[in-house]
Amino acid sequence: MQKILITGGTGFIGSHTAVELIAAGYECLILDNFVNSHPAVVNRIAQITGKTPLVIEGDVCDAVGLDTLFATHTISAVIHFAGLKAVGESVREPLRYYANNVNGTMTLLLAMMKANVKTIVFSSSATVYGEPDSSPIPESAPYRAASPYGRSKAMVESMLTDLTLSDPAWRVALLRYFNPVGAHPSGTMGEDPTGTPNNLMPFVCQVASGRLPMLSIFGHDYATADGTGERDYIHVMDLSEGHLAALRYLARDDAAPLLIANLGTSRSHSVLDVVTTFSRVNDLPIPYQFVARRPGDVSAYWADASYAEHTLGWKATRSLEDMCRDSWNWQKQNPQGYRN
Ligand code: NAD
Ligand code: UDP
Repeated sequence: MQKILITGGTGFIGSHTAVELIAAGYECLILDNFVNSHPAVVNRIAQITGKTPLVIEGDVCDAVGLDTLFATHTISAVIHFAGLKAVGESVREPLRYYANNVNGTMTLLLAMMKANVKTIVFSSSATVYGEPDSSPIPESAPYRAASPYGRSKAMVESMLTDLTLSDPAWRVALLRYFNPVGAHPSGTMGEDPTGTPNNLMPFVCQVASGRLPMLSIFGHDYATADGTGERDYIHVMDLSEGHLAALRYLARDDAAPLLIANLGTSRSHSVLDVVTTFSRVNDLPIPYQFVARRPGDVSAYWADASYAEHTLGWKATRSLEDMCRDSWNWQKQNPQGYRN
């Protein structure tokens, strides 16, 4: 059985991916410092899969800890989710973001190189594209990240690209996620933001549960069909399956050393689409008001995800209805997230 190291594996996307990997027959070793997650998620993974993953509380910036980990466990590949992800926070605390996301990845890669583990799937983001010239966005679009967070992702992408050029034994997948939402269909795992959510779907969920009084829709004067911002929302289960597909691709004899792929649905939905779909499928009112645009927001963007389909044989299949239903199912069963 192949053992996969999942850094950040107790976080939102990492936990769902761990479930997917265990179901596919991999053994998972999770490394997380719980800076943005809760240990209770481990029991949920065990509940769903019938297997408890091994979890090490530790930091990807800790070189000694990583050396010990690789000396103790025979790891086949790494999926590297560990990172900080709040755009606004990254503007206020850029060094924290570069230290954690860039230096953390470099420390991890050095440990991997020492241990001769040279296969890695990296969580990148559509944020590396910034304001694109047009949508759908192909992988060839230029880097235009507009925040320290986005630039930390672009820097890591460059670092990993250089590594594949220096040593053809490396197998690297850079997966650029669009807007991950949704939850495990059981309702036992989902997104659990600390404090007031910044992102749309968790905010909508908390309005639906009565925890927040009203959604503020940031801008309704964009050049979109209904004037609100459009994004490519992707179900976290589809995203998790994308990681499995990437892992399998990298294990192939004919795999290219470097794979760069958008993970999205190639479709966009407006903020109002999300609100009305959520209300309809869950039969719940979502009070909202229009307010000014959020500084730094792009009007509309969505993926050209055709490369992932051709190369990985992966395609997102879940609808916006599924995303809204599963998000609410999680929120309803866990009003305080994992802190219940
Ligand atoms: P998350 O915050 O839920 O998960 C990240 C996990 O990494 C958390 O469990 C956190 O405790 C852990 N972590 C952070 N720094 C660490 C460190 N130094 N050492 C060990 N563990 C550490 O976020 P997520 O939504 O699951 O995102 C996972 C990855 O995907 C991140 O790298 C993020 O930047 C990227 N991404 C997320 C989105 C999104 O909208 N959710 C979009 C694009 C890319
Ligand atoms: N949005 C909103 N109100 C909120 C949060 C988000 O209107 O409380 C909008 C935001 O302007 C964008 C979309 O919802 O058009 C998705 O935002 P989110 O923060 O979820 O993701 P982003 O695309 O910014 O990473």
